[in-house]
Amino acid sequence: MDRVFNFSPGPATLPLPVLERAQKELVSCGGHGMSVMEMSHRSKMYMEIIEAAEAELRELMGIPDNYKVLFMGGGATMQFSCVPINLKQNGKADYIVSGSFAKKASQEAAKFLDVNVVASSKDTNFNCIPDLANAKFDPDADYVHITTNNTIYGTRYTKLPEVGDVPLVADASSNILSEPMDVSRFGLLYAGAQKNIGIAGVTIVVIREDLIGRAAENTPVMLDYKTYADSESMYNTPPCYPIYIAKLVFDWLKEMGGVPAIQAINEMKANLLYDYLDNTSFYHATAKKADRSLMNVTFTLPEPAMDALFVKEAAENGLVNLKGHRSVGGIRASIYNAMPMEGVQKLVDFMADFEKRHG
Ligand code: PMP
Repeated sequence: MDRVFNFSPGPATLPLPVLERAQKELVSCGGHGMSVMEMSHRSKMYMEIIEAAEAELRELMGIPDNYKVLFMGGGATMQFSCVPINLKQNGKADYIVSGSFAKKASQEAAKFLDVNVVASSKDTNFNCIPDLANAKFDPDADYVHITTNNTIYGTRYTKLPEVGDVPLVADASSNILSEPMDVSRFGLLYAGAQKNIGIAGVTIVVIREDLIGRAAENTPVMLDYKTYADSESMYNTPPCYPIYIAKLVFDWLKEMGGVPAIQAINEMKANLLYDYLDNTSFYHATAKKADRSLMNVTFTLPEPAMDALFVKEAAENGLVNLKGHRSVGGIRASIYNAMPMEGVQKLVDFMADFEKRHG
C-alpha cells in the first residue's frame, strides 16, 4: 500500500473503505453487470442509489421534512449566483465577509441585487470571524449569507449570527458533516462535494421549501431551484458518479457512528495539532483561538523562506499538500472527516522533528 496522508484542501482525501468499495463495484455494481458510470440515470438501479444518498444525508444531518435536498452541478461557486437569483425579492441581501470565498459570493450577488457587507475581517487578513456586535442587519434583506468554515484561513463560526426572520444562507462547503448543524436555523445551505461529501462534480443544496419558486420567470432553467425540486434533481442527467460516491461516503460516515461521532474524532485531531502549535514558539497558528477551524489548520514557520523546505520534507515523509493557499502563504493542514488520526499524529511527529532540526 503506497498511499500517502493527503492534507489537500479539496479535492481531498477520501475514506479508504470508500475507494475500495468503488473499486470493487467499478466494473459491475450490485450484480447489474455494468458500472454506475454506464447506468441510465432513470433506471431503477440508479434511482435506488440517488434515493439512498438523499435519505442517508437527511438522516446524518437531521434535515427536517420541510426542506428539499437538491443535487446540482457547477460547484459551490455556481451557488454564489443561484442564491441571489433565486432568493431575490426586495432586491437586497446582507453578506458577512469572512474570507475570499465569502467575498467572491458577495461580488457575484452584487450583479443581481444590492449587497450590504454587514461585517468583514479583511483588516486582520481574515484571521477571525468578523465581530458582529456592531453589524447592522437589514430586517428587509432577502437573506443573510455566511461561510460557515473558511477553508483558506482556517476559521469557522462556533455560533451562528442571530438574524431573526431573515433567511440565513450558508456556504458550508468545507465543514458540512464535520459537526452537527441545526438545519432549521438556515433557510438554505450549500456545499461542494469535494471535501466531506465525496468528489467534485456535485453540489448539495438543502433549502427550506418556502424559498423555492421565487426566481424570476426568465431564470435559466438549470439555475432555478424549482427545476431541481420539482424533478427530484432529475430534470436532466445529474452528476451520477459523484452522487454514487457521496452515497458511499454517507454509508461510511454512518458506520463511523454519524456526525456526533465524527465530530468527537475531528476535535481530537484538531486539538492534537493546535495543542502542539500552542506549545511551541517555532510555529505560529494564524487563526484566532476562539474561531479555529476543525477542518483547516493554518500556521506559519519562523521565516516564509522555510515554507518550501517544510513542504518538501513533509512530502518525503508521505505527508502531502501542506502548502498554504497562495494568498496567505504558510502551511495549511486540511483534516477533513476522512483524514485518520494516524495522519495527524504523523504530521505532529514530523513537525516536532523539523523544529528540532531547524529551530
Ligand atoms: N466555498 C468554500 C468555502 C470553498 O472552500 C470552496 C472551494 N475550496 C468554494 C466555495 C468553491 O467551490 P467550488 O470549487 O466547488 O466552486
